[in-house]
Amino acid sequence: MFEFDLFIIGAGSGGVRAARTAANLGLNVCIAEERYLGGTCVNVGCVPKKLFYYGASFKKEFSTSRSYGWDIDIKYYNWRRLLENKNNEILRLNKIYEKLLIDSGVTILSGKATFLNSNTVSVNGINYSSKNILIATGCKPAKPNFPGFEHTLSSDDLFYLEKLPSSVLIIGGGYIAAEFASIYNSLGVETTLSYRGSQIIKDFDHDLGSRLASSFVKNNINILFNSNIKKIKKVNDEQFDVIFENGIVKSFNKILSAIGRSPSTSNLSLHNTNVSLSETGHIIVDDNFKTLDDNIFAIGDVIGTPELTPVALKQAMVFVDNNFNKKKRVIDYSLIPTAIFSQPNVATIGLSEKYARSVFEKITVYQSEFTHMKESFLDCNEKTYMKLVVDSESDRVVGAHMIGVDAGEIIQGLAVAIKSGATKKDFDETLGIHPTAAEEFVTMRNRL
Ligand code: NDP
Repeated sequence: MFEFDLFIIGAGSGGVRAARTAANLGLNVCIAEERYLGGTCVNVGCVPKKLFYYGASFKKEFSTSRSYGWDIDIKYYNWRRLLENKNNEILRLNKIYEKLLIDSGVTILSGKATFLNSNTVSVNGINYSSKNILIATGCKPAKPNFPGFEHTLSSDDLFYLEKLPSSVLIIGGGYIAAEFASIYNSLGVETTLSYRGSQIIKDFDHDLGSRLASSFVKNNINILFNSNIKKIKKVNDEQFDVIFENGIVKSFNKILSAIGRSPSTSNLSLHNTNVSLSETGHIIVDDNFKTLDDNIFAIGDVIGTPELTPVALKQAMVFVDNNFNKKKRVIDYSLIPTAIFSQPNVATIGLSEKYARSVFEKITVYQSEFTHMKESFLDCNEKTYMKLVVDSESDRVVGAHMIGVDAGEIIQGLAVAIKSGATKKDFDETLGIHPTAAEEFVTMRNRL
């Protein structure tokens, strides 16, 4: 007899959702977590980042408000107040996660879990047996490999910096690089982005990447394209010299490495199981999230699917349904809406124009570029840009892309339509809400 029906390693978004869903079905569930309840999203990801994003967004709001007649005298920016409020909010959320688990009857263990065999894990020196074990350990920031990399900070560190840096170099051109460049720049930090390629956020439609880069430059973020770092030398705690491969040397107060994330599998003693890893180090699973070991399952960032909280949540529910509730659900990874909370916001669902051209015989692309009404009075206003990609044969909208105010909020709504197979005709026949930016998506007639 096993002590538990399901033992979960990792209490992040996926692990907690799986624990609660399984316990609500009557399973005897235990969850072990070595750091904090809520995982990356709650503690060093989505939640604190969005709070920082809101904090930083006020800069633009204040300057916009002047054109509406508000004369606000801003004395100084109090970083510590934001930090403290953020920390308190996270503690509140940690407690909510704990209560949700306890109320569902889940046993919580605080400590690192390691496998002794396919049905047994050890936590703090005590062995626990379980019929099924779920790995939901997520990912951790990847480390660069040039000399002096130990002087770089990860996004985890940035959430706890006691004071704002005077200058920052951000290495990378993806989600985290774009979001932190925006946050720091808006908070008055001299910000430089070093990206190894020529198009930041390169997995998004090219028109979003190029517009985001121009907007960054317009807002005084220095972008170094095709830039690689040779080494970093520490001058003192406040100054680091960065030697780039092209020979240029620049000094920065702090350096953030945002070059992707690696799966957290190294401390699990997986050699005691039949679990196998892919070339990228992710755990190999089938459609029901079963690993190559019949008793062990895995979900979330650790299996190499898009590293997004809603993906892990969906996987958690499908994992429980398919394995303990006799369902046969399949996750469709083709239409995942996603947003970068940069300044300006970027959001997307479906295929980029370039990718759609490679899979459909003929596509029609519609676009709209305009000044957001809220920014009409500003001298240096930025354009909002929207694009719809349509399969010409079926008239189905296969991609929607936006950069501008509230892009994330707007694309979330469109995601329902696109997931439901809406055609361009359906978009055209939908009435707009006037005056909004979002209505452009149903009035868009300009073909590229
Ligand atoms: P991303 O995958 O978004 O971006 C990584 C960036 O680092 C890319 O620009 C990549 O370049 C570059 N890079 C990769 N390896 C190296 C290297 N060895 N040297 C120099 N540059 C390198 O990862 P992030 O770290 O920004 O974020 C991790 C994940 O977390 C994201 O993919 C996303 O899934 C999730 N996330 C989601 C957020 C959201 O939903 N808003 C916010 C933050 C994170 P290249 O483009 O050339 O490959």
